[in-house]
Amino acid sequence: MNRTKDSSTSLRIAIQKSGRLTDKTVDLLHGIGIDFDNYKRNLMVKTRNFDVELLLLRDDDIPEYVQDGVCDLGFVGANVTRETQADVTVLRGLNYGNCRLSLAAPKSADIRTADDFDGKKVATSYPNLTRDFFGNKGIDVQIVEISGAVEIAPQLEVADAIVDLVSTGGTLRANGLIELETIMESETELIRTNHELSPGKKELIERFMVRMDGHLQAGKSRYMMLNAPKGSVDEIKSIIPSMKSPTIVPLAEDEMVAIHTVVPFNELWLIMEKLKEAGASDIVILPIESMIL
Ligand code: ATP
Ligand code: ZN
Repeated sequence: MNRTKDSSTSLRIAIQKSGRLTDKTVDLLHGIGIDFDNYKRNLMVKTRNFDVELLLLRDDDIPEYVQDGVCDLGFVGANVTRETQADVTVLRGLNYGNCRLSLAAPKSADIRTADDFDGKKVATSYPNLTRDFFGNKGIDVQIVEISGAVEIAPQLEVADAIVDLVSTGGTLRANGLIELETIMESETELIRTNHELSPGKKELIERFMVRMDGHLQAGKSRYMMLNAPKGSVDEIKSIIPSMKSPTIVPLAEDEMVAIHTVVPFNELWLIMEKLKEAGASDIVILPIESMIL
């Protein structure tokens, strides 16, 4: 592995210049307090309040830029990183840009399982992942590499079937294709270079990760305020297991208290129903900007 000593201190982060991941990645960076603009017009933008430079790239190039140490971090789909087989470290899965790489064939063809692909021509932009998938199963396919609009390859008789990214399946259906099997599930990931970094950059990455984790955790949590009779506090505590030490404030109205706490978003509605049954009222839910535990 090519490890170079890196003396620059600015953290360089690769993001997709223009595409499905761009808005969410920009929102995420803004959400952790990194300010910048003009990213639509420039290939590199400096940020105002954190020592970061953003490099705006085609998503296909991001894993290699990070692998080679040109960028220290990158935001890119797992599908791209796996396809390029880049030597990088995945720091976090980010749960946006979710999709899957799937086998699909025309409705009219008699290709219904992976085994039926034997001896067939398969169009894809993911030749490595496709080759590995069929290779592992001992199925012999001829790969036709296409960089875009893979779903029309069967109509053009360029291929018998395809391997392509799917999110809702609408594009496949619109082209008379049936999704048959998933090769891999993908989400956007934050990747890090394996190059040795300067102490200054290491520290910047640590600070960056504290902010990221605070933001990700906040996204999964909600701030909850409610009123309850004093007598039901114990029951309410047992309904919210995550509640270590809730804030309990006496209210002007005797025998009532206000309770403030943080609850996991995925349990929110279940918890609210139980709280109402336990006598809670005036339940207010608020988003959380960030949280450092
Ligand atoms: P670029 O110009 O940067 O090369 P692109 O056209 O290759 O862009 P996009 O279509 O913007 O890429 O997709 C970027 C990423 O979004 C994909 O690599 C994948 O991780 C994710 N994605 C999520 N849903 C889909 C989908 N239905 N089709 C394609 N990509 C998807
Ligand atoms: Zn691309």
